[in-house]
Amino acid sequence: MSGLAKAFREKLERAATVGTLSVKADTLSGDGTRKWLFDIGGGSAIETVFIPEETRGTLCVSTQAGCAMECVFCSTGRQGFRRNLSTAEIIFQLWRAERVLRASGGARAGHRVITNVVLMGMGEPLLNLDNLLPALRLMLDDDAYGLARRRVTVSTSGIVPMMDRLAAECPVALAVSLHAAYDELRDRLMPVNRKYSLASLLAACRRYSARSPRDFITFEYVMLAGVNDGERDAAALIALLSDVPSKVNLIPFNPFERSGFSRSTSDVIKRFNDRLNVAGILTTTRRTRGDDIDAACGQLAGRVAFR
Ligand code: SAH
Ligand code: SF4
Repeated sequence: MSGLAKAFREKLERAATVGTLSVKADTLSGDGTRKWLFDIGGGSAIETVFIPEETRGTLCVSTQAGCAMECVFCSTGRQGFRRNLSTAEIIFQLWRAERVLRASGGARAGHRVITNVVLMGMGEPLLNLDNLLPALRLMLDDDAYGLARRRVTVSTSGIVPMMDRLAAECPVALAVSLHAAYDELRDRLMPVNRKYSLASLLAACRRYSARSPRDFITFEYVMLAGVNDGERDAAALIALLSDVPSKVNLIPFNPFERSGFSRSTSDVIKRFNDRLNVAGILTTTRRTRGDDIDAACGQLAGRVAFR
């Protein structure tokens, strides 16, 4: 970098390193979904998933190695927490995926391959906000990736104070993992609820709405047979979301070994979906992508990560 001033080069030399993460695996699913496993040292690995669709390409990025939140239906949560990813490790995933996809001819002239980024890989993004914020700013910066705010989505299990911080410091689209519409059940499925109850979570969502680049908050709801997929649950969900601008995304449960849960049948999911729509809550069911390569929601990073 001889074009830079000498003093600045010396400063860079003291403060920065140039490096890359090695690729432990690069797998392509039958449906075009692609998953990378990156070695982050110390026996840990993280995963990044690219999901191509007709009109967009979504990159699912990890923010932590493992996760401390212990949601019982999540494979990552069952494996415990290793460490936070650095800003470099977070933005690396986008840099690397963009480069590889471009080189493999995925981009038409003037079009982006990656049009959307979702922080929905391993980890709880809002528990690594200090490192995440600079990475988000790079994603949004016109001199870097230049993505629109509403095309970058942070997904959280509901860390209330950090939702307010995200709103204040870098409001991007927000997805909230709800999965239960009453405290007693959510306490069991997601231990975070014992700290931040549904009432405080929904209040934080209403505050976030005022700053959000989208006019709704996305609520994710994993469909667990016989656990949260009944008529009582649908009614509670409708009541809960009555005063928050919302969109609901139903996720058919993705099974993993010894999970103890099973996926609701497609009839039950359809009925639940219809019931919410009729009540005026825009609801869609997520198509499961990449499950043949363990790239679907909640299936990330087991095997190699914690050997
Ligand atoms: N930790 C963040 C983001 C990553 S998870 C969060 O929880 O929001 C992305 C989504 O997949 C979350 O809604 C998560 O609850 C859901 N999920 C976890 N395990 C799953 C499983 N086995 N099947 C389907 N969805 C799952
Ligand atoms: Fe962590 Fe999200 Fe899994 Fe919960 S669902 S354990 S917050 S990765």
